[in-house]
Amino acid sequence: MTTIPEKIAALRSDIQKYSPHPGRVRIVAVSKKQPLDKIQAAVDAGILDIGENRIQDALDKFAQRPFPGVTRHFIGQLQTNKAIKCLQNFDWLHSLQTEKLARIIADSDNRIHCLIEVNISGETNKSGLEPEALRSFVQTVREYRGLDIRGLMGMAAFTADETAIRASFALLRELAASCRDLETEHVRLRELSMGMTNDYTLALEEGATMIRIGTGLFGPRSNE
Ligand SMILES: *Cc1c(COP(=O)(O)O)cnc(C)c1O
Repeated sequence: MTTIPEKIAALRSDIQKYSPHPGRVRIVAVSKKQPLDKIQAAVDAGILDIGENRIQDALDKFAQRPFPGVTRHFIGQLQTNKAIKCLQNFDWLHSLQTEKLARIIADSDNRIHCLIEVNISGETNKSGLEPEALRSFVQTVREYRGLDIRGLMGMAAFTADETAIRASFALLRELAASCRDLETEHVRLRELSMGMTNDYTLALEEGATMIRIGTGLFGPRSNE
């Protein structure tokens, strides 16, 4: 059986192997529905970033084990009524996609680094802005002082078709590049959060700066 430190070492060597800029890549260990002892083992083995997708589950976890020094990423859909809790307890939000939420964040005293989620799956009814809507969204929210936008997040379709997955990741990279002219001090699109357990090597090749790895690091989640 591969241990968590061994899995982290394997991920790090894949980053070296597949990424054009390995020094810019971080592993976000997706700890949702994983026991605290496994998360602790990952942190002890050098993991610096953890990702959660439900506010209440995350707060229950952090109350028991705050993992000091570890950067917290919120990667799930965020309801506006939970936005403040998220801002108070997380360092990064990967799923910004509404002006309403952008406004709440901009008006809050808490600072959080945001990624705009884009639907790169080619499927309708998936979360994220449609690619065609990104530019006007950026044009709108760049006027909101107090926001700190750092990049884009996307999920490829759940398919075995590597060509399609790669095209989705390339699209996210190209979308970020196509909005570079809109960058300001508080809107920069340098981070690309893309790639999960099943497709992270493709995401790395296409320029990911954050890969979000859950089962590939911790094993199967509880209740799934
Ligand atoms: C659960 C989740 C992941 C991790 O998925 P794995 O396949 O377990 O690596 C990554 N990103 C998001 C947004 C998730 O919800």
